[in-house]
Amino acid sequence: MNDKVLVIEDEPTLLETLTYNLKRQGYDVIAVADGKAGIEAARTELPDLLILDLMLPGVDGIEVCRVLRQEMTIPILMLTAKADEIDKIVGLEVGADDYMTKPFSMRELMARVKAMLRRERLIREELAAQDVPTPNQRYTFGNLVIDEARHEVRINGSPLRLKPKEYELLHFLARQQGIVVSRDLILERVWGWDFDGGSRTVDVHIRWLREKVELDPSNPIRIVTVRGIGYRFEG
Ligand code: CA
Repeated sequence: MNDKVLVIEDEPTLLETLTYNLKRQGYDVIAVADGKAGIEAARTELPDLLILDLMLPGVDGIEVCRVLRQEMTIPILMLTAKADEIDKIVGLEVGADDYMTKPFSMRELMARVKAMLRRERLIREELAAQDVPTPNQRYTFGNLVIDEARHEVRINGSPLRLKPKEYELLHFLARQQGIVVSRDLILERVWGWDFDGGSRTVDVHIRWLREKVELDPSNPIRIVTVRGIGYRFEG
């Protein structure tokens, strides 16, 4: 299946050129001219990569980036007209993975797109490889022990009362120790593809888990929030 690229760009000529060239490289392309439609397209089409113009009418590129970052992990390549906008992209931690200043060479853009998609694929493969379960392992993180054989979590030797989903969530996060996992990935692995609820479900369960595994749940050090992306289990 071809990688799907969403392009949000309000300059008709550039949008057309980008679409043409991306299609020639074998990508499926969704072309959208404003931010609001772009967010909708990202939600419904779930593209593999986003090329996003910074200055857009209505909802601008920064806002699009912020909204989508909270909902999905997707590589974002920002296009900016002015070099001083780069400070905004980087400085405000908007969350773009890469950026290009207009005017740019189409060849260079294609190379970046290819590299970003390859990097994303490697991360996914690495995650998948790490997620091959070895049965009945015991994971120890300081005073916290996850015992697969007994389906049990203990702190200082005392079993915690965890709901099944809390156990599965902690178990999944612990197996990805040190790696940022997105809410989408957590939903997919812990709740399954057919789950209807949104990513709020993940946040709520994280909060419950923190009440049980953190010394100070309001200042978590085991399950940390990675802003705009998801969570990381530190150990
Ligand atoms: Ca523009």
